Amino acid sequence: MIAVKNSRELALMREACVVSARALKLAGEAVEPGVTTAELDRIIRKYIESQGAKPSFLGYGGFPASACISVNETVIHGIPDKRVIKAGDIVSIDVGAHLSGYHGDNAATFAAGDISKEARALLDATRESLYEGIAMAVAGNRIGDISAAVQQYVEMRGYSVVRQFVGHGVGTNLHEDPSVPNFGTPGRGPRLLPGMTLAIEPMVNMGVPDVDVLKDGWTTVTRDGKLSAHFEHTIAVTKDGPVVLTMP
Ligand code: MG
Repeated sequence: MIAVKNSRELALMREACVVSARALKLAGEAVEPGVTTAELDRIIRKYIESQGAKPSFLGYGGFPASACISVNETVIHGIPDKRVIKAGDIVSIDVGAHLSGYHGDNAATFAAGDISKEARALLDATRESLYEGIAMAVAGNRIGDISAAVQQYVEMRGYSVVRQFVGHGVGTNLHEDPSVPNFGTPGRGPRLLPGMTLAIEPMVNMGVPDVDVLKDGWTTVTRDGKLSAHFEHTIAVTKDGPVVLTMP
């Protein structure tokens, strides 16, 4: 069952999404050599709580922090800790905020100091693949149209999409129907209707698509140890086209 929201519900949801987007922006601005991932997490928690919202991820499935912070070959679900960010690192931050009954979910990968040309190209391609997917989030299209657009863009550039983790519906629950894979076939999957809200989130690897979850049960890394990037927006399908809700 895919929830469809009316304009009042979408307006409430946008407020949660804006908090989530501002938290991500603040944390991104704080990414620099010398900062720890725990400090970035504190910035996020402090901001979200200052807005009367709750960090969606804190305690979700037992997750011990407010944000997932994933450095270099860590794809997603990195646990903030004492790790010190170094120049040349890429830092993926995934943040959700829960406000007035709705969740907003977004992620981006940030550069710490100067990063390699190859890393920069991976970030640019991953961000762009997200927008390729969003452009297909049009009423009447199907989920597979989003999936295929992301996959084609990524693979054309010689990168791979992670298959083990996917995007999702988001609303009163952080994760709800439908699944939004970053790979698929145009014209397949559930049909998109105005009022559906989706978290589209390409996870793009420089090497093989395979990932492994470490013993902590969360930290997900590339099997070949190569870099991975992650960009995510919460969007609404509307009769006038896709609207990005997670805009600061
Ligand atoms: Mg998500």
